[in-house]
Amino acid sequence: MLESVEVYKFGGASVRDAEGIRNVGRIVQRHGSKQLAIVVSAIGKTTNALEKVVAAYAKTEVDQAQSLLAELKDQHYTLTRELLGETSAAYAKLNDAFVEVEWLLEEPYDNAYDYAYDQIVSIGELLSSIVVHAYLRTLGIEASWIDARGVVRTDDLYREAWVDWETTQQQADDKLRPVLQGGGVVVTQGFIGATADNETTTLGREGSDYSAAILSYCLDAQRMSIWKDVPGVLTADPRYFDNVTKLDHLSYREAIEMTYYGAKVIHPKTIKPLQNKAIPLMVKSFVDPEGSGTRVD
Ligand code: ADP
Ligand code: ASP
Ligand code: MG
Repeated sequence: MLESVEVYKFGGASVRDAEGIRNVGRIVQRHGSKQLAIVVSAIGKTTNALEKVVAAYAKTEVDQAQSLLAELKDQHYTLTRELLGETSAAYAKLNDAFVEVEWLLEEPYDNAYDYAYDQIVSIGELLSSIVVHAYLRTLGIEASWIDARGVVRTDDLYREAWVDWETTQQQADDKLRPVLQGGGVVVTQGFIGATADNETTTLGREGSDYSAAILSYCLDAQRMSIWKDVPGVLTADPRYFDNVTKLDHLSYREAIEMTYYGAKVIHPKTIKPLQNKAIPLMVKSFVDPEGSGTRVD
């Protein structure tokens, strides 16, 4: 029986360095009970860096693309060394993800920009999930790494793919529920999915919140929490305004309106699937996990 599945989403800021990932470990340990699905975004600004790889490839500047990719490889290996030491199973998995892109860059560019974009940019989330998963295992957490591309089925509208809900539900039932029912923790990727032909797709920039909502819906989660660098949803973006205050509570409708008018704290597509199943959304601070955050219900 799935009694109390929770879904946690950690964005790029929360996993941007070794200390960030250790903090994720503390938040997961604090959760204590089992049946937790964890959705992670790419580390820090990795997605922006991968977009530069795509741009270089599309300009047929292959050397430039390779060297940008090598920089990312370096960053991910350095982080892994800091967290996990020299001998972790994570290195081989990270390498496999990089090799896929290195091969693609050796193919001549065929003008299918959006397709190439998704094949390249999607590795950001694969990489971060590999590192987070390996780190949680070192804490003794029985986490399973699940490839979101085997769960989230989409059409082939690359860079802005639409979800095939029926197949996604089926795949979530087949691949996620058994692990969660066994009392396990699942680590998977935000932002990415795959077509019926197994081609990788992405759901649009900042789409990891939406991924977490898709899984929350399919798993009938009791609650979904997104862990941010802010105490919750604020009256305005603190990057541009002073004197902002935290909102303790929002209705689904208010949250949809806020994201629609551009509040960049929650991806606009996130709320609807949650509302359809009356799943509460918590927006919480990864700096202050005990803080009350914002509840959307
Ligand atoms: P993630 O790490 O999950 O990708 P984001 O960077 O996308 O997180 O979202 C958090 C950021 O959203 C905050 O740092 C803040 O600058 C911005 N933001 C914009 N509008 C708001 C708002 N109304 N309330 C809180 N944060 C906001
Ligand atoms: N990594 C992706 C992005 O930066 C998805 C996300 O973070 O939500 O857009
Ligand atoms: Mg984001």
